[in-house]
Amino acid sequence: MSVHSEIEWTDATWNPVRGCTKISPGCKHCYAETFAERFRGVKGHPYEQGFDLRLVPQKLAEPFSWRSPKLVFVNSMSDLFQPGVPDEYTEMVSRVMTVANWHTYQVLTKRSERLRDLLRGRLRFAALHENIWWGVSVEDRKYGLPRVKHLQQAPARVRFLSVEPLLEDLGRLDLSGIHWVIVGGESGPGARLMKEEWVISVRDQCREQGVPFFFKQWGGVRKARHGRLLDGRIYDDYPERVVRVVPDRSRCAALAGKWLAGSDGVAGSRPLVQLAGP
Ligand code: SF4
Repeated sequence: MSVHSEIEWTDATWNPVRGCTKISPGCKHCYAETFAERFRGVKGHPYEQGFDLRLVPQKLAEPFSWRSPKLVFVNSMSDLFQPGVPDEYTEMVSRVMTVANWHTYQVLTKRSERLRDLLRGRLRFAALHENIWWGVSVEDRKYGLPRVKHLQQAPARVRFLSVEPLLEDLGRLDLSGIHWVIVGGESGPGARLMKEEWVISVRDQCREQGVPFFFKQWGGVRKARHGRLLDGRIYDDYPERVVRVVPDRSRCAALAGKWLAGSDGVAGSRPLVQLAGP
């Protein structure tokens, strides 16, 4: 985990899965791939295997060890709903989020059909928790808009859209049942252009439909130069968040222990996991 994430809309990242495969145009300059591949072959490094998919069960219990309530981006370096991640593992990740419920988790995917199907089935127990926000990426009309539909079809207490990198005008949006929209441009080498009118269109539709809007960045090759101002102001809205007190260390350890022992109501035994230090 990175406790102090540089991602504007979260506090921390948690990666019980590493690596992914590309699925749509939004993946073209995937920052996670660029980062991970830098360390391919570096012995002992967490990304020794580059961007190849890997489950990281020793990370599962990590949220129990953080001493303040956080907004946590789940799998910033991967996609929990990609085909190589077993249903059982998505359930284990979700169980942690429901038990360590003093954090708020942001789960973002491009595999929206699987997200929907699992939230209707095996992950139903986690769908309506107010501390778990379920989201899909929307970069264009062809790939992005069907994901919005899938998310709307899923049972979820909080649904959000990460419209990043925004690659074209999305046209008319139906935001019913959507609780938060983030918009951002692409950054880094080869960054594709995002036009102001595309962003304004999304912002205005959020206003009309009463959806909190967060403008992350303009992006570009030199991200810091372009900043976060849209029409002269910063848009930093979030959905309502319930902040709970973190239990004391012994209670956290007891909950983690219960979870590790598989005695929280989940059938089957846990993989080998370790509780990370504070
Ligand atoms: S789905 Fe996300 S993590 Fe996976 S390749 Fe695409 S951008 Fe990268």
